[in-house]
Amino acid sequence: MIPQPTLEQMREELRVSEEFLARYNRPGPRYTSYPTAPVWNDAFGPADLETVHVEADAAKTPVSLYMHLPFCESLCLFCACNVIIQRDKRVSIPYFDVLKKEISRVGEAVARQREVVQFHWGGGTPTYSTPAQLEDLFGYTRERFAFSPDAEIGIEVDPRVTSREHLETLRRLGFNRLSMGIQDFHEPVQRAINRIQPYEMTRDLIQAARDLGFDSINVDLIYGLPYQTAETFAHTVDQINGLAPDRIALFSYAHVPWLKKQQGSFAAHLPEGMQKFEIFRAGLLKFVEAGYLYIGMDHFAKPGDELATAQAKRTLHRNFQGYTTKAGADLYGMGVTAISGFRNAYAQNFRELAAWEKAVGERGIATMRGYHLSTDNRSQRNSRYVARPDFYPQSGDALRSLPRTATVKRQAALLENALSRGFRSTYNRDRCRNFWSDLRLRSQKVGAKCLASGSVCAAGRHDPIGSGKRLSF
Ligand code: SF4
Repeated sequence: MIPQPTLEQMREELRVSEEFLARYNRPGPRYTSYPTAPVWNDAFGPADLETVHVEADAAKTPVSLYMHLPFCESLCLFCACNVIIQRDKRVSIPYFDVLKKEISRVGEAVARQREVVQFHWGGGTPTYSTPAQLEDLFGYTRERFAFSPDAEIGIEVDPRVTSREHLETLRRLGFNRLSMGIQDFHEPVQRAINRIQPYEMTRDLIQAARDLGFDSINVDLIYGLPYQTAETFAHTVDQINGLAPDRIALFSYAHVPWLKKQQGSFAAHLPEGMQKFEIFRAGLLKFVEAGYLYIGMDHFAKPGDELATAQAKRTLHRNFQGYTTKAGADLYGMGVTAISGFRNAYAQNFRELAAWEKAVGERGIATMRGYHLSTDNRSQRNSRYVARPDFYPQSGDALRSLPRTATVKRQAALLENALSRGFRSTYNRDRCRNFWSDLRLRSQKVGAKCLASGSVCAAGRHDPIGSGKRLSF
């Protein structure tokens, strides 16, 4: 079992100095994949993806399907997703027609013996489309893939455009998970980001989803938004705790105005440095105080939730949608900009609608770029995906700053440094052995002591960085 730190331990560990924060609070690669997306390249094309499809089918791995539905009615100014803002909903009709061609083509590449264990509609706002359109699209998909009886079938919903009829339709189709965008209930924040979503509207939708029997309701919050303070955010967190979702994602706001110009409109009102960290700290402590388990990085779950169980059993993994219990499934992404992830490759579809439509029309798939993973890449990926979620950072960005090209040895040295500066790690002994062996040896060499036991670690007998204990160097 991975031990959960107590609230008091967390309080203590989340006390950081300005100097500490300044040292580690730097932007770094976003490890939704390893290697990260910027190193993927356009030498990887549709023919490569078709080869990977054949290999995946031969390996008979379980299947995860992701479909990107990019339309939204209005633009939330903080949003860095790939979206198409369009009030005229007729635009989604031709989009669905092209998407069906891609679904059909991918369906041909996946043998019926391979079960879909995970299905997700993301966006954009999937519930931008009418219940009838969604039902038609889902029916088309189900005819082409074999779904496992206990598949996770999820969708992102925006309470501002999601009706009871949407929920009834989704539930009838077999959807069992909802992921709901909230961000912050504080009105000045909502005004600044152009997303007016009253608490009552969200509360009523969650209640309706519960009445209809959805198994899991997740909510997404963001810290670091304009006009947010630790006090105002604490109030939002109290309201969220009152709604008692099954899982909570607390993401760090990514300020990238050179990519998303609209973010410049509120740049002068962003909390930064210690102010931003205090918002994260307020949220984290309040969720833990309310009984949520800290799964890692940006996720919390109720005790008994599958994520919490997977964390305890050390079977937790991370994919493009966040934490998952479905390790080992191949991800087939469909729709504009969608990403696919396989044991030995990644692929991404064209980001521009016209380019994606043209490519699907010609070949059925629309690969813009991708990456073949080497054996070393796979080993590094496993280390990161398994090791990193076990950290609970004092500054979320510190571990992200580990250079992706560094050797395991170099990473271990950097992590050693982080540990000596107060980071904690709950060490997953079984699955991170390679990643940590160098660090363990170094710890022993310098006589690292487990602060809890006070003893020097002995090789193979006692893990000096295990169990969230602090090292003294
Ligand atoms: S509704 Fe969601 S996807 Fe659309 S602009 Fe707002 S945050 Fe982005």
